[in-house]
Amino acid sequence: MSLLELRGVTAGYGPVQVLHGLDLEVGDGEVVVVLGANGAGKTTTLRAISGMIPARGEIVFDGVRLDGRRPEAVAKAGIAHVPQGRGTFSELTVEENLRLGAITRRDGEVDADLRRWYDAMPRLGERRTQAAGSMSGGEQQMLAIARAMMSRPRLLLLDEPSLGLAPLVTRELFERLRDLNRAEGLSVLVVEQNANLALGIGHRGYVLEAGRIAVSGDAGSLIGNEDVRKAYLGF
Ligand code: ATP
Repeated sequence: MSLLELRGVTAGYGPVQVLHGLDLEVGDGEVVVVLGANGAGKTTTLRAISGMIPARGEIVFDGVRLDGRRPEAVAKAGIAHVPQGRGTFSELTVEENLRLGAITRRDGEVDADLRRWYDAMPRLGERRTQAAGSMSGGEQQMLAIARAMMSRPRLLLLDEPSLGLAPLVTRELFERLRDLNRAEGLSVLVVEQNANLALGIGHRGYVLEAGRIAVSGDAGSLIGNEDVRKAYLGF
């Protein structure tokens, strides 16, 4: 069974419909990549899943309907959303940001998780008392992901994590994501312009075109298909 399943999802902004009946799945332990041109509806897809905008159709997570639920309920169900532009609190320190990620947890393991993330991302540990806004773009993106992970999600939604990052930093970021997926079985739905890199760590991908799925398939088959590459992936 899929961890996340979208069936016939439509969503938009006021009178403007952006998604026109989307079917999409993320299996347990899968990294799934959403590709597509600017304005295709990638960000809107993530917003619909996380309850930030109203959606019609079915959004089922771990067997439970999530469509129509508020963002807090979606987060509580185990979905963490890292929006475009990172969304860390720039005035707060690294550690304060990380603790905020765990704010709804009632278990006694928050400190242990903090140490874990400092081990996994040593830059964050070195800078735990530094204001998030004074860190580099790559460090802030790592922080945004670690903060999302502090809620112990089963599914991470990531919106263009490479935006504004240097190629080497982006590469490192995707390697960390692959490690998380392999070591923790974390499921990831990632929107990304850098198709090559994202499909390099992804299991499957969807190409969105004007709010509809134009192509989908295994990461390898998408990268290997010259027509798909030329028409949709730009390399
Ligand atoms: P990009 O790669 O440029 O981020 P995208 O595929 O993520 O593009 P979306 O952000 O989902 O695209 O936008 C899809 C369409 O919805 C676009 O035409 C956009 O102008 C429109 N849109 C996005 N946000 C809003 C909003 N808050 N109000 C009205 N229209 C919006």
